[in-house]
Amino acid sequence: MDEPGVPEPAARVRGRARRALTLGQPRPGERPTPHPWRPARFMVIAAHPDDAEFGPAATAAAWIDAGSVGRLVCCTSGDHGSEDPAADPLALAATREEEQRRAAAIVGYDEVVFLHQPDGALANELPLREHLVREIRRFRPDAVLTHDPEVLFFAGAGVNHADHRAAGMAAVDAVFPAARNPMAFAGLARAGLAAHVVRRLYLFWPNAPTAWVDVAATADRKVDALLCHTSQIPDPDGLVERIRAWLAEEGEPVGVAAAEAFRVIVIDDDPDEGPHPATAD
Ligand SMILES: [Zn+2]
Repeated sequence: MDEPGVPEPAARVRGRARRALTLGQPRPGERPTPHPWRPARFMVIAAHPDDAEFGPAATAAAWIDAGSVGRLVCCTSGDHGSEDPAADPLALAATREEEQRRAAAIVGYDEVVFLHQPDGALANELPLREHLVREIRRFRPDAVLTHDPEVLFFAGAGVNHADHRAAGMAAVDAVFPAARNPMAFAGLARAGLAAHVVRRLYLFWPNAPTAWVDVAATADRKVDALLCHTSQIPDPDGLVERIRAWLAEEGEPVGVAAAEAFRVIVIDDDPDEGPHPATAD
């Protein structure tokens, strides 16, 4: 998460889990079911190393196990992620990139891309969006998973880091309209990176989730991947306990042992695409 003093996800998600019981249900009074759709190719865009593990790692692992191809893009390398003001930012970035690569290998991404933007100073501006459009057009995902950029305050507790909001908003803006518009960052198209349509956004850490992915089979992988971030985890046992409690809470709305919640934005509904036709959202 890379923000000293911010409550752990399990604490701040409690309010979200309660809201999840009343939001995103298919019909009034009807219990939602686990999210059925799976993109053939998906990209996770995160602000810092470890965000993807606190975020959608178990979903990513489940989709990859089922045959999807996933790629991770980290906007920063987390060079401010220390309580020690004398820490060397470059050394810390190198450490955190190595931690992220080990975690990504556990999840099963085909590649990790670091954009090397400044930690703590991420801005949704044209240079970042061009980086993201380049990566989207290079990989050509059906879905992009990123931070919910509209969350300023978590419903449970806490402030959402400015980098998370900036990364999420830049990812949304890169997906629509820039990645699909051949005139946006025209040099990319001239260099052979043709326009590409991303059909869905999966926004993680939402205050108002609309979809819950059953991750009972891959919860252990999320935990193992999170534990790779040793520079950020002073209390591994406590973290594991909190993460497992968090997954269990997010599973309650759809009646599964563990889930990850998302706000899903369908930009282009195409039921013929993806290994599983869209049926529920
Ligand atoms: Zn973070």
